[in-house]
Amino acid sequence: MEIFPTALDLVRKQSPERPVAMVRRAAVSVAAQWFQANFKGDVFYAVKANPSTWVIETLRDAGISSFDVASLGEVELVRSLAPEARLAFMHPVKSRSAITRAYFDYGVRTFSLDTHDELRKILDATGNAKDLNLIVRLATSGEGSNLPLTNKFGAQAHEAPALLLATRQATQDLMGISFHVGSQCMRPTAYAAAMSAASRSLVRAGVFADIVDVGGGFPSVYPGMVPPALAEYMDVIDRAFEDMKVHETTELWAEPGRSLVAESTSVLTRVELRKGDALYLNDGSYGTLFDATHAKWPFPVKLVRADGTDAEGELRPFRFYGPTCDSIDHMPGPFWLPADVREGDYIEIGMLGAYGVAMATGFNGYGQTDTVFMDDAPMASLFGLGPRHISTPRSA
Ligand code: PLP
Repeated sequence: MEIFPTALDLVRKQSPERPVAMVRRAAVSVAAQWFQANFKGDVFYAVKANPSTWVIETLRDAGISSFDVASLGEVELVRSLAPEARLAFMHPVKSRSAITRAYFDYGVRTFSLDTHDELRKILDATGNAKDLNLIVRLATSGEGSNLPLTNKFGAQAHEAPALLLATRQATQDLMGISFHVGSQCMRPTAYAAAMSAASRSLVRAGVFADIVDVGGGFPSVYPGMVPPALAEYMDVIDRAFEDMKVHETTELWAEPGRSLVAESTSVLTRVELRKGDALYLNDGSYGTLFDATHAKWPFPVKLVRADGTDAEGELRPFRFYGPTCDSIDHMPGPFWLPADVREGDYIEIGMLGAYGVAMATGFNGYGQTDTVFMDDAPMASLFGLGPRHISTPRSA
């Protein structure tokens, strides 16, 4: 398999017609190693962030043996690539058939829930299995996170104690709590707040937890969004876990998605037309640029001119349109590029390893992305921002 040293090399050799995911396996390995060395518990990769085969294989080879899956499709995917992996089905709403198949056909033993109805469903669908690990998902405020996940899932503080008690009584194996502070969480203290709220609910319920799962939300670095070092998040979680006064045997888990994969991948797109400061690209919000539209994130960009000549002119702000007929397919940016950018130029868009390729649809016949392996540094490092995981040693 060919590995390209630079984006220009790729453009010269292939003149790609379709968007190309430029992936760096080393970035994923480094992130996985950092997380395993610095998080004092079990690391479950949240497959939804990037379910590409190469990601699962790279993480598996870097020692990640636990995966957070959200659908039967993800269960099947991980089982096919990492047959021995431990899977936790952490979507709080699942179909009966997905639960049954996950349990009986794929050996999944850990399921999350946030209602009494889902608890009953899990018990029914597994024939009241005795070896279930049941994790109660608690609501968080989502404060400090750029993409809160708060409204949809999680038992509220007033309903949590009864649910925790019922779940404790239902399981003959492990019972745990989980939460998600929201994705791209910019405040380490959000974890401490969620853990102390969980403690209060456990005390009110009069039960203990075998598992404390702090979920995902660990941030990456995007232009204009520079969070505290990840090491700080680890320190806050360590202290909060101690403060929870859990049993000696209580396990600490996390489900990072974004922070393991975001840096690894950039996407090479082509300018099909320029209208003033608007560039019409062959990729957009129905492809890998969902967050550039819906969260208005100004991802880092770099011009790659097909003939290799340097672009001229000062950098100036551009906005992007995607290839579909929908006018929502608009990425406001601003994306700073040389003033003379023109049709046929390529633009490398960085930090798309998480919720980028994973989000692509086939709308309007677009959305197919090729994948190539790269040997260069991830694009974040162009901004002197990364690789984060190497540059953030933990305090002693
Ligand atoms: N765990 C659960 C249950 C999630 O829903 C998500 C993301 O939506 C994650 C983990 C991963 O979160 P992140 O990518 O912010 O780390």
